[in-house]
Amino acid sequence: MGVDTQTLRKWLESYDTNSITIGVVASHSSLQILHGARQEGFRTLGIAVGENRRKFYSAFPGADPDEWLMLENYQQMLDYAEWFRERNVIIIPHGSLVEYLGSENFKGLEVPTFGNRGILHWESSRERQRQWLAMGGCSMPKVIDDPHDIDGPVIVKYAGAKGGEGYFIARDYRDFKRNVNIEQEFTIQEYVLGCRYYLHFFFDPIAKDGYQVQGIGKNAGKNLGRLELMSMDRRDESNVDEFYKLGSLRDLREMSLEPSFVVTGNQPVVIRESLLPRAFEMAEGTVAASFELEENSRGMIGSFCLETIVTDKLEFRVFEISARIVAGSNPFVGGSPYSDINEPFMSTGRRIARSIKKAVSNNCIEDILS
Ligand code: ATP
Repeated sequence: MGVDTQTLRKWLESYDTNSITIGVVASHSSLQILHGARQEGFRTLGIAVGENRRKFYSAFPGADPDEWLMLENYQQMLDYAEWFRERNVIIIPHGSLVEYLGSENFKGLEVPTFGNRGILHWESSRERQRQWLAMGGCSMPKVIDDPHDIDGPVIVKYAGAKGGEGYFIARDYRDFKRNVNIEQEFTIQEYVLGCRYYLHFFFDPIAKDGYQVQGIGKNAGKNLGRLELMSMDRRDESNVDEFYKLGSLRDLREMSLEPSFVVTGNQPVVIRESLLPRAFEMAEGTVAASFELEENSRGMIGSFCLETIVTDKLEFRVFEISARIVAGSNPFVGGSPYSDINEPFMSTGRRIARSIKKAVSNNCIEDILS
């Protein structure tokens, strides 16, 4: 389950922490990560497959990596582990890295990475996620176990689908049967009507000030670290976001059209300020619960995102958690209405680099890596 502390310590023994290179796969939120790393004074490395990937970075000199590692496929990263370590590389994982590499390969990558790789086990199954979020005190959309019990709008989600691909809405069993692909594993969730907010948090386990997360269970009574709200986005999803333009759901069905939820972009948002205390409460509970998920859990480290829907009763439903930087933080390369209050121009990518810099100067780098 992830990398054990002893192995991590062994790798880090040979690291020159005064010349760390921040490495990232050239996709997802890499412009932001590379830009943030440079702002904090780090050398940067881009990892890519295919020249066209690399070329477009020259259009962004503020993020263009100092060095490139060009590969034939992403799995080759595993063979380059020693090469990375010889260059004091710390890899910043994002959703595309985990997807390209596969979660088992990502867990086995013998290079220090930012955050806790062990948490992927809890994040990668919807069932375990629910356990975790419930322990953290988050309300979630109801799950319908038997499709015959569908008695209102539901969303059907396939296991391992990325970016909402293949999801569909059903109003009753007939609808469900007409659309479902029974070859695939699926979950049926109550369709929550409301507005979506993707809340980007950062948990810094080495900071002693600010909003401190209170431990629960075996950590009860302890301050676990500082929780920060970095920014918020809402995703653009094709084609559901523009679906209404063609008429009612019934009209669309007559045209054999079904809404789909494929993420194509992100928009910056803020939430009613009176909802912030509950947002923090949920995030705090989720972080505190992450330390209780298993024996010796190292818990959450760094960026994470609670994906929520706020109903007209002003209640949150959390439908997913991402335990690393999300692409929804990309609109905030120059800061956000929340992070600007604490320090201007602080993107999540830069916050990650700042965290590494601080850990180096406090001589506790292993506390934020795995
Ligand atoms: P990713 O892993 O990229 O976050 P995913 O494939 O796991 O995405 P979800 O984030 O679970 O998919 O859902 C995709 C979209 O479907 C959401 O952004 C939201 O618009 C919609 N959605 C998901 N769950 C619900 C729900 N219970 N009620 C209403 N809409 C939902």
